[in-house]
This record gives sequence, structure tokens and C-alpha cells, in this order.
Amino acid sequence: KEEILIMDAATMQRSLTRVTHEILERNGGTENLILVGIRTRGIYLAERIAQNIKKFENVEVPVGELDITLYRDDQHFTKEQEPVLNNTNIPFSIEGKNVVLVDDVLFTARTIRAGMDAIMDIGRPKRITVAVLVDRGHRELPIKADYVGKNIPTSTSEQISVRITEVDEQEKVTLIKG
Ligand code: 5GP
Ligand code: MG
Repeated sequence: KEEILIMDAATMQRSLTRVTHEILERNGGTENLILVGIRTRGIYLAERIAQNIKKFENVEVPVGELDITLYRDDQHFTKEQEPVLNNTNIPFSIEGKNVVLVDDVLFTARTIRAGMDAIMDIGRPKRITVAVLVDRGHRELPIKADYVGKNIPTSTSEQISVRITEVDEQEKVTLIKG
């Protein structure tokens, strides 16, 4: 299959730096700010944003975790998959907080919706926003990303491959043709 390089390591780092500044700007700094990463790669991306915030503002922002997997997740992403909440690890209060949900790829937005449900089950945040490394389009719900590393228009037969060093020992985003 044809694989096209979309973001290299430097581009990904710059995107995450910009997204971090946008999060700080739009939330008026770090007060009441909470990051919640969605399962594997979203959690590492949330931790990287938290590291950036520590570097820029010298503040440690709490990072929670949601384990949401797609039913029949075989790395071939289709619109028929339903997200399933397996586990929630948010060991701090989200009451009145600005929660930023972080994931690697935004597609139909069903996963983000499941994440919003999980958060609202445990408390009442002031606001929930969404940060993703890649927005590949094809939304099926009225949900948008507030912070986007890169918009990559795709066809449904194409896949985005996100590789990050913490998981994949590589750092790049590619488009895999169907
Ligand atoms: P959605 O629920 O928005 O349809 O799909 C988003 C979730 O599925 C994310 O957690 C993301 O990891 C995964 N996903 C959907 N499409 C892709 C894709 O093309 N590439 C990758 N790497 N993940 C995807
Ligand atoms: Mg995922």
C-alpha cells in the first residue's frame, strides 16, 4: 500500500507546541485546566502537552486517562465501529474545571462523544474542549476539535498512521492509501 509522509518528528513537535499555546491562551492559563487523554496515544499526547505547559509556565497540570477502544479495533478504521469505555482513571476532581480531551485522530467523533459521557458521569466540568493531533474528517456527530495539529482530508478507504516514540519507537504521521 502507498504510504505518504504527512508529518515528521519536527512537524509533530511544532504542532504540539502550538496546540499547547492555544490551550493556554483560550483557557486563560493553567488555572482550572485538566487534560484527559484517550487510551494509548491520546494519553501520551496529553502527557506531552502537560510537559510543554510545565516548560512554558512551570505548572503541573493534572492528566487523566480514559480507555476507550473501538469495538472490533483491528487498526482498519471503519465507520461501523462503536467506541466502548473500558476504564476511567481520573483521580482528581473535575468539578468546575476546563477539561481538554486529547486524542490522536478525530474521525466520526463517536469516541469523543463517549469520552464526554464518561467525564460528565463523574462530575460537572465548566467546559469540555477537544484537542487532536489529526482531524481526518467524516464527522457523524455535531462535534468539532477546538485544537488541531493538522487537518488531513481523507477518503474513507484511507487510514492515518500515527507513530509516536513512546509506543512505536518512531515519530511520524503518514497517510495510507486504501
Ligand atoms: P472516531 O470515534 O472519531 O470515529 O474515531 C477516533 C478514534 O479512532 C481515535 O481514538 C483514533 O485513535 C481512532 N481512529 C479513527 N480513525 C483513525 C485513523 O485513520 N488512524 C488512526 N491512527 N486512528 C484512527
Ligand atoms: Mg484511539
